[in-house]
Amino acid sequence: PSSLPKPTERRVLTVANQKGGVGKTTSTVNLAAALALQGLSVLVVDLDPQGNASTALGVDHRSGVPSTYELLIGEVTIDQAIQQSPNSERLFCIPATIDLAGAEIELVSMVAREGRLKTALSDKALNELNLDYVLIDCPPSLGLLTVNAMVAAREVLLPIQCEYYALEGVGQLLRNIELVQAHLNPDLHVSTVLLTMYDGRTKLADQVADEVRKHFGDLVLRTVIPRSVKVSEAPGFGMTVLDYDPGSRGAMSYLDAGRELAERGAAMKSHQER
Ligand code: ADP
Ligand code: MG
Repeated sequence: PSSLPKPTERRVLTVANQKGGVGKTTSTVNLAAALALQGLSVLVVDLDPQGNASTALGVDHRSGVPSTYELLIGEVTIDQAIQQSPNSERLFCIPATIDLAGAEIELVSMVAREGRLKTALSDKALNELNLDYVLIDCPPSLGLLTVNAMVAAREVLLPIQCEYYALEGVGQLLRNIELVQAHLNPDLHVSTVLLTMYDGRTKLADQVADEVRKHFGDLVLRTVIPRSVKVSEAPGFGMTVLDYDPGSRGAMSYLDAGRELAERGAAMKSHQER
């Protein structure tokens, strides 16, 4: 694949939807791999105690490995927690271990509890990696971990599954984004909506896609991610679908979605210019 335009400044996207199983993790790792494969440097921050993004990227995330947990509570610095994905020299991950499961509660009593990830990510050590993109994979809840992600990012990437009740809970997510915007991070906005698990054989999938496009307009990427067995098999091999089966429809669609994301990013005005 040819190379993609670099953004004028590093883009930090939070991949959020408090519904579980809508394709957050799958989209995070495969978009990250798509951007890396097409020449950009990408960091995935795994903020889900399940650690599924870490698994798919093939990085060590056994309990005790320096991870987002230690980073958030301030026990390690970013260069101690970052790992390179074995499948790509431009793809990095701060893994999540099961230790993160307690963080939601531990963070409550901490100073500047909502801004801890942002502070960690502003570490100068990250500059050496010349990162173009940071993608943050959120847990399926709107707790302090997701708030940390929303404070650390400027953009929200919202994956929506082409299924029953697709928009259920989205209103609540948008209200939370508005709250974070009003009190913690004025720059935060939904920049990208990605339709996932599209099954062209069902009328329902088209109805959902139409409804989402009506609601979110141009924010919705033209590329739709099809439901594909290859996509769901890949993490079991510690791979993204781009490595597992590069010619598959799933891999091609994530490559296209990554391209769209990057091309839109290059067209966006930088923060200073606006
Ligand atoms: P979330 O992170 O929102 O909970 P996941 O990305 O883990 O969602 O996806 C939920 C389940 O759906 C996983 O088992 C995943 O492998 C599967 N899945 C995700 N996207 C696809 C797809 N395009 N085709 C088939 N299965 C998918
Ligand atoms: Mg997930």
